[in-house]
Amino acid sequence: MKYINQVDIKGKTVLCRFDFNVSLDEDLHIADDRRIKTALPTINYALDEDARVIVMAHLGRPEGKVIDSLSLRPVAKRLSRLLGKEVVLTKDCIGDDVKTLIQDMKPGCVLMLENLRFHIEETENNDEFARELAGYADVYVDDAFGNAHRTHASNVGITKFAKECCAGLLMKKELNYFSATLKNPLRPFVAIIGGSKVSDKLEALANLIRRVDKMIIGGGMAFTFLKAMGHEVGTSLIEDNLINMARRGIKIAKERGVKLYLPVDCVIAEEADSKAVTKIVPVQEIDPDWMGLDIGPASIALFREVLGDAKTIIWNGPMGVFEIDAFSMGTFSMVHTVAQSHALTIVGGGDTDVAVHRAGQSDYITYISTGGGASLELLEGKKLPAVKALDECKKRMS
Ligand code: AMP
Repeated sequence: MKYINQVDIKGKTVLCRFDFNVSLDEDLHIADDRRIKTALPTINYALDEDARVIVMAHLGRPEGKVIDSLSLRPVAKRLSRLLGKEVVLTKDCIGDDVKTLIQDMKPGCVLMLENLRFHIEETENNDEFARELAGYADVYVDDAFGNAHRTHASNVGITKFAKECCAGLLMKKELNYFSATLKNPLRPFVAIIGGSKVSDKLEALANLIRRVDKMIIGGGMAFTFLKAMGHEVGTSLIEDNLINMARRGIKIAKERGVKLYLPVDCVIAEEADSKAVTKIVPVQEIDPDWMGLDIGPASIALFREVLGDAKTIIWNGPMGVFEIDAFSMGTFSMVHTVAQSHALTIVGGGDTDVAVHRAGQSDYITYISTGGGASLELLEGKKLPAVKALDECKKRMS
């Protein structure tokens, strides 16, 4: 597919889809504006080309209803401040008023369309809705990596009707990091996979085991593997239906010569509560009524050693229930270990991103993805629907 810098947009009207799904506090102030900042290279590039820039995005899940607290007003205001120029927000994302505002735009102007998801047609990938959006501009630019695993009107349907399609600079960065790393990593290549369930990451585990030299499994999902190895894991998070699958995974790793590392000790409690009494035990000694909620100090030391010679590290999923201080040490220790390593380090979005930022280590990670779901699909070896749509659009044009 093409990227924005390979398309002639000089003086043209460009319609750019971004992922501005930021979290807002009770006063509707933006709690974290990183997603807005990641759009700046594409917007500034278009402005440097004297394009008229129409920005579109969604916020939250209004499910087709107009919900005032999910208006993009705070986003438009913040974007305006970051760009140092006015960003006009439309009242609706479709309709005659929008068309009039677009006709009046001057080169170098920025217009933001109100929340796309105020129309259910957006998530339904409705053709008419997509056609109307596409009609606003000469060139459609998709830079919403965080939404690229969805099949919606503004990122998939629209490519059937747009005069010309391309991807933005954030999309370029995300895809380059993941594809270059997965196709041709510097070795040793280590994957760290954590989080709650094996079922959520089964396909990623299956794809990565064919590519990595070592794999570290932590978090809740480690207990299904530990049980598959014959350990009693008390009331820890277990997916009984996947125990055989975990056993097969262990076998495949062995056959391929991939070194698989599981926690050797863990922090246990009777419940995942900040006031719960905790103990650190070897994984062989988990009490029947207790659950493993974080990796223990011996696992932290082991994983640090495993990562010592890594040249490439990909990490998705926390090592424990890091939202609660008593169970956060494993995840935060891993953040520091990964940040201090001499490897190329890539962190999937979502919870792992939150943990890295909370630990204040984001500057020391090579790349932190802006899309949890989308980056997980790349780790699964899938092609994202939005990327497929852009590819097909390019084929149609050539
Ligand atoms: P995921 O979205 O699959 O990456 O999972 C992230 C969630 O996994 C976080 O909210 C953690 O609290 C949770 N988690 C991590 N370790 C455990 C564990 N040992 N038991 C239960 N939940 C866990």
